[in-house]
Amino acid sequence: MRRAAAAMIFWLALAGLTTAGAPGLASPAAPKAEDDFQLVKVAEGVYGAIAKSGGLASGNAGFIVGDSGVLVVDTFFTPIAANELIAEIGKVTSQPIKYAVNTHYHLDHTGGNQVFTERNVPIIAQENVMKWQTTKNRKFLPTPEEMQKRRADTAKQLADTPADQKDKRAQLERQLSRIDVMMSIKLTNPTITFNSGVLHLYLGSREVILVTLPGHTGGDTLVYVPDADVLFTGDMGWAKTLPNLVDATVNDWVPSLDKILSHHPNSKFVPGHGEVAGAAEMRDFRDYLDQLRTTVKQAIESGLTIEQAKQQLKLPEKYKGFAFQNFAQSNIEDMYKELKGTKQTG
Ligand SMILES: [Zn+2]
Repeated sequence: MRRAAAAMIFWLALAGLTTAGAPGLASPAAPKAEDDFQLVKVAEGVYGAIAKSGGLASGNAGFIVGDSGVLVVDTFFTPIAANELIAEIGKVTSQPIKYAVNTHYHLDHTGGNQVFTERNVPIIAQENVMKWQTTKNRKFLPTPEEMQKRRADTAKQLADTPADQKDKRAQLERQLSRIDVMMSIKLTNPTITFNSGVLHLYLGSREVILVTLPGHTGGDTLVYVPDADVLFTGDMGWAKTLPNLVDATVNDWVPSLDKILSHHPNSKFVPGHGEVAGAAEMRDFRDYLDQLRTTVKQAIESGLTIEQAKQQLKLPEKYKGFAFQNFAQSNIEDMYKELKGTKQTG
C-alpha cells in the first residue's frame, strides 16, 4: 500500500492532476525551462534551480561555478528538465560541467542522471544511492511494461472521447505526454560513491564540501560552498514544505538538523523543496519534525491506533500554509511506525 501510495503521489503530480492550471502543463508539446524551474542566483557563481509546481523538475537542483569547472547538485525528475538545466548553465558560463552530485536516490532528484552519464560527467553520491537507485526507485517509477499498459489505456480513452469533449481530450493528451516523459527516464546509477564522512572537491580554487548526514533516506549528501556560505541540503532540508517521510528516520533527522543549524547559523540554504531559505526556515522545519515526533509519541502512549492518531492529531496552525499538505497524514503514519519499530522502507 505504501509503495502504491508513494507512486501515486508522484504519478498524479506528473500527470498534472494535483496542480490544475500549473504553468508546466500549458504546453505539453514544448517544455520550457521557465515552466519547470526558476534559476536563483544565491551568491557569486552559486545558483539554485527551484522546481515549479506541475513542471518536469519536481525537486530542486542547482549548480556551482568555480574557476575551472561546474558542479551540478541533483538532476531533477526528468531528462528533459536536466537538459534544460544544462542549457541554463551554458548561458551563465562556458566552463565545462565537471561533476554532478545526487543528494539522495529519490527519483525527483536523480531522474535526469542519464543526461550526465551520456556526457561522461561523473555522478557522485553516498554509497547507499548505488544500492537503491535502480531498486527502491521503482516505487516512484512503474516498470516499462506497466507504463506501456497505462499508455495504451490512456490512448484508448482518448480515441473513445468525442471531439466536442475538448477539456477531457486535453486532459488525456496531457496525461499521454506525461507518460511519454516518464517512459524516457532510465534509472541511472552514480559513478563515484563515498561512505559516511566528508569529501572535498576543487573547482580550481573554489572548494566544495560534500557531507553525509542521516535522516531523510539514510543515504543523503549535503553540498557546501564555504567561500559563499551556501548549503545545498537536498531533502535533508525542506523550506515551508511538509516533507516526505517514506524512507525517513526522524530520530536521526532531528539531531542532524541541530548539527546543521549549529554549524550554519548565517548560511543561505538551497533546500530540496521550497524556496531558497535562511536558518529560520530550517529551524521551522526541524521543529515540525520534533513536534510530530512528540505528538505521535503521546498518541501511542495514550493507546491510539494509527488510524485514530491520523484522525485526531491536527497539523499545528504554524504549518498549515506549507506546501505538500498531502503529506500531513502519511507523516503521522510514518512517525507512528518508526516509534513502534514497525516501519518498513523500500
Ligand atoms: Zn527525497
